[in-house]
Order: sequence, then structure tokens, then C-alpha cells
Amino acid sequence: MGFFEDEIKLLDEIGKIAGISGEILEILRRPQRVISANLPVVMDSGELKIFPAWRVQYSDALGPFKGGIRFHADSNLDEVKALAFLMTFKNSAVGIPFGGGKGAVKVNPKELSKAELEKLSRAYSRYFYEVIGEDKDVPAPDINTNATIMGWMANEYEKLTGKKSRAVFTGKPIEAGGIAAREAATGFGGFVVLREILSRSDLDRTQGPNFKIAIQGFGNVGMHIARILHENGFKVVAISDSKGALFDKEGLDIPNLLDKSLWYNNKRDISNDELIGLETDILIPAAVEGSINGSNADKIKAKIILEMSNGGIAKDAYGILDKKGVIVIPDILANGGGVVGSYVEWISNKEDKVYGEKEENKMIENIMVSAAENVWKRKTGSDLRTAAYMVALENLEKNIKTKILSK
Ligand code: NAD
Repeated sequence: MGFFEDEIKLLDEIGKIAGISGEILEILRRPQRVISANLPVVMDSGELKIFPAWRVQYSDALGPFKGGIRFHADSNLDEVKALAFLMTFKNSAVGIPFGGGKGAVKVNPKELSKAELEKLSRAYSRYFYEVIGEDKDVPAPDINTNATIMGWMANEYEKLTGKKSRAVFTGKPIEAGGIAAREAATGFGGFVVLREILSRSDLDRTQGPNFKIAIQGFGNVGMHIARILHENGFKVVAISDSKGALFDKEGLDIPNLLDKSLWYNNKRDISNDELIGLETDILIPAAVEGSINGSNADKIKAKIILEMSNGGIAKDAYGILDKKGVIVIPDILANGGGVVGSYVEWISNKEDKVYGEKEENKMIENIMVSAAENVWKRKTGSDLRTAAYMVALENLEKNIKTKILSK
């Protein structure tokens, strides 16, 4: 089954549990609009290359479409549709006024020079500028795209429209209207959600922040959440990257590990698979899709999994974790801090106001606290994934009824 088809199956299952009407599900089973393009780039060698590209605008029932643009050699329309669907549900679950979208270019950016990458990014803006806009569709970075690329795209957009429109792209460099809190927002949001769920769960509170935590993946998300957990007195006992994991049952010295160059070439204590089976209270996948799956879920001893990576838990692991009674905080809630950070950037650009990091974090925190609370209230048993999808789906149903079906 394809990635997108899998998501639709989940939609139908949850729609049934939540008693969502057939008409609403019929609308949500397909994207509102799919735009495809072929981006021509004259390479440094003088040769012309054409790169297939897409923007999928899944639903704007809650507000402008919102979602990243990824550059990847394996990108394809099925994947972009599935990711746009997930953004629709994530934005709705965390309760921000954005619909869901996603974009991609089929390219291996590592094979491009900086000048070629800039031409490609500007071409994306040129081919899609008519369908994006601060109140229409607001893109952001995703895999292999970053603040510099958003800066090029935003600049090209402004040249084409002749208008200064900072709120069209988020995840920009600070000097181009980005916000200080965005870089750590996903990790920070994950921490807030974890704190809120812990305070509501019946796990032994006397352990307090002494909970032992293992984090798989030490990139943007893994590093920031490790730092914030450490600052809040939690014991991070393992971290890893694609080469393997560092482990100390007494707790790692996280501040010293934040400079990746200090440990990148050092030996690893255990493998990534061993990290997953460690005696810890909380496990945080923050690396790649499907790193917890049917073949290793049974080894998990953690009582809570905070799914920071998108699709970090493969579907064949859901039943196993459920049987073991593991509380899974699903990706659409756990990593929602990233898009909430983008929302704060969008607001400050629209208002032409700089809030400052402290105030920006407060805004992100407030939204993530209510999101965690809403999902927790909606759960039956320990299944927070179904609860998060129900919150999202009910919110979408309400908006589709008033904004689309009543017209
Ligand atoms: P990143 O590229 O900065 O870091 C990924 C980390 O995972 C790196 O340390 C890498 O070495 C490690 N890794 C790669 N393959 C691995 C493997 N097989 N085993 C163990 N570790 C491995 O990426 P990121 O931005 O930190 O994103 C991590 C996850 O979080 C992704 O699934 C991403 O979609 C999701 N996410 C990120 C954001 C964000 O704001 N960055 C927002 C929402 C969701």
C-alpha cells in the first residue's frame, strides 16, 4: 500500500470511531488541489536540467495551506500528498488557524553547487508564486531545505509580485523576518507536551524529573530537546546519530555534547537498536521514519514514547506498543511545536512586529499546553494517537461544515 493510501485508511478508521459524516470524509479523502511543475535550471556546466516539482494544497478549511518544501531525490507525488494530509491533521490537532499543504522538488541537492541550488529555489518560487501567498499558502523548510533557501524563495516572490511580503514563507533567516524561537521550537514544543502529559499520567510522580530518557537522533530536534530536558533536571542517558549511541546510565553531560564536532568521530557505546531496548522511562525517536517498528517494538522497556520524528513509529508497531501499555505521544502532537513556531513567525511578520525570543516561546508554550490538554481529554485508555486524530478531525468537520458545505 502507498504512503497516501495508508493515511486514508487511518482517516476512515478514525472517522468511523469519531462518527464523522460521510460527506466530510469524502472531502478529506483527496487533496483540494495539486499543482505540478517542471523546473528548468541551467547548470554551471551550461547543460539544461529539468526538475519535477509539486505543491499539494490539501485543505484550507482552517486557514491558509501550510507546510514545508523538501528537496529529495526520492520525492514523488504520493509522498507529497501524504505529507500534506499529515500537515492538515497536525495543524488542526494543535489548534492553529492553518490548513495543510506540502511541496517537493525531485532532486539530490548534494549534487548541486550553491549557485545551482539558488537557481532551483528561485525557479520554485517563479513556477508556484501565483498559488502561494500569506493568506493563501505559506511554505516553510523541510528535509534538505533551510533558512537560506526560504530567503531566496521569499526574495524571488517579492521580485515577482513587486510587494514586500514577509509572511509568505516561514523559517526565514532572522534578518529576513525569521524569529529567534523557530530553530528550537520543535524540541521546545515536544518538551512542553511531554511535561503536560507526564503531569496528567499516573506514572510515579515521586520520580519527578529523574525520569531516564534515551533520544535517537541528535540533529536539530534531538539536540534541542536533549538540552531543554537536561536544563529541566531530566536525566538524558543516551543519544545517537546514524553511527550509533553514547550511553551513560548516570546521565550524559549534555551541554558538553551540544557541539557535535566534539563527539562526532568518537567511539559509540551501543548501537541504535540497543538504545531502543534500554531500561529507560522515556524513549524519544528524533531521527528517521519507522525507526521503531514491528521488529524492535517488543524490546522497548520505556513507559512513554515521545514521537518527535514524523512517522517515527511504523504502523506495524502500534499494536505491539498498545499491548505493552506504552503511552505513545504521537508525532502530530509531539512535533507540532515546529509549525507553531512558524505560526508565531507568520503573525509577527503580518503585524510587522518583533516579539523577542521570550515572548515567542510563551506563545508557543500556550498553544502546546492547550493542544496536549485537548488530546488528553479526548483519549480512551492510553491511545493518544487516536485521540489526537479525533481532535483534529472534529475540528476539521466543524470548519468544513460552516465554510464549505453551507455554501
Ligand atoms: P536532522 O537531519 O537535523 O537530524 C536527524 C538526526 O538523525 C541526525 O543526528 C542523524 O545522524 C540521525 N540519524 C539519521 N539516520 C539515523 C538512523 N538510522 N539511526 C539513528 N539516527 C539517525 O533532522 P531534524 O530536523 O532533527 O528532524 C528529525 C525528525 O523530526 C524528522 O523526522 C523530521 O521530519 C522531524 N521534524 C522536524 C522538525 C524540525 O523543525 N526540524 C519539525 C517537525 C518534525
